[in-house]
Amino acid sequence: MAVVKADGFGHGLADVTRTALANGATWLGATSISEAVAVREVERNAPVLSWLNPAVPDVEAAYRHRIDLAVPSVRHLDAIVATGRRLRVHLYLDTGLARDGASPDEWPLLVDAARQAHAAGRIEVVGVMGHLAMADRPGHPTNTTGRLELLRAVDMAEQAGLRPVVRHLAATAATLTDPATHLDMVRIGIGLVGFDPSGSTCLRSALRLTAPVVQVRHVLAGTGVGYGHTYRTEGPSTLALLPVGYADGVPRSASGRASVLIDGRRRRIAGVISMDQTVVDLGPDPVELGAQAVVFGPGTDGEPTVEEWAAWSGTIPHEIVTGIGPRVRRDVR
Ligand SMILES: *Cc1c(COP(=O)(O)O)cnc(C)c1O
Repeated sequence: MAVVKADGFGHGLADVTRTALANGATWLGATSISEAVAVREVERNAPVLSWLNPAVPDVEAAYRHRIDLAVPSVRHLDAIVATGRRLRVHLYLDTGLARDGASPDEWPLLVDAARQAHAAGRIEVVGVMGHLAMADRPGHPTNTTGRLELLRAVDMAEQAGLRPVVRHLAATAATLTDPATHLDMVRIGIGLVGFDPSGSTCLRSALRLTAPVVQVRHVLAGTGVGYGHTYRTEGPSTLALLPVGYADGVPRSASGRASVLIDGRRRRIAGVISMDQTVVDLGPDPVELGAQAVVFGPGTDGEPTVEEWAAWSGTIPHEIVTGIGPRVRRDVR
């Protein structure tokens, strides 16, 4: 399953979806029904699963657009059954995050309700799913516990007479590090765009964020730069202005640490990154107006990587790539 939530991890829903399908993905996944409907609008045939919805989900939309729903509680199941629409569902067990999914305590009730609704022809139970809390730490015992809990939950469903044909647990990290978690299907999100949260596989980032130098100015030593003058030039210097800021996904919290690549060299960002603009201190090595800055990329030409930006701003690559704003043009080659 290609998980194309959050606009295909910030890379563009349609492009990521089509590329994944063209390269072997057979299922698509998203969070809410409305996000899944956007996926359905890109792809007419492949099954699409939505797993994060309010207790009374928009079943009409799911039905109309042939969206499978994950069911994390009896309440959710009852709300679906009450509409009279026969949806395909995946029973969702919380396998260790205490976040989404039914708790192991509720599981027997959920299985029983699903058995009745399935037997009455009111839903079709096609899957059982879980999600691991520690998959980015291969070998962590919590992963084994989660996997065994899921298998026990599948057993329980089967003993109740249900025949879930797609059992799924692994996201990117577990897929890359632990074949025992693969079961019938894996759900790959961040891996599609070139990141391995476990750091154990050499995936390469699929994106490069660039911006042109739109202004160059020569300044004296001690010039305060940007809001609050948090940065002052050490000597006479040249500053370059880039028309990207935190509204475009360049995290303000990386101010003071971050750099970009221009003309083959790393250049310090000067002052705080603002909403639309970023200033770069070129020092004694100026560049031409119109030169291209690489904010981040795969790192193959010396540009900062998404992982570096994540470290500079105290986060993970997921937050950097999904933070790339809507006004950044996605250009797929
Ligand atoms: C986001 C998500 C995934 C994909 O996770 P990655 O680590 O990005 O591969 C899979 N399953 C669920 C339930 C998710 O929320």
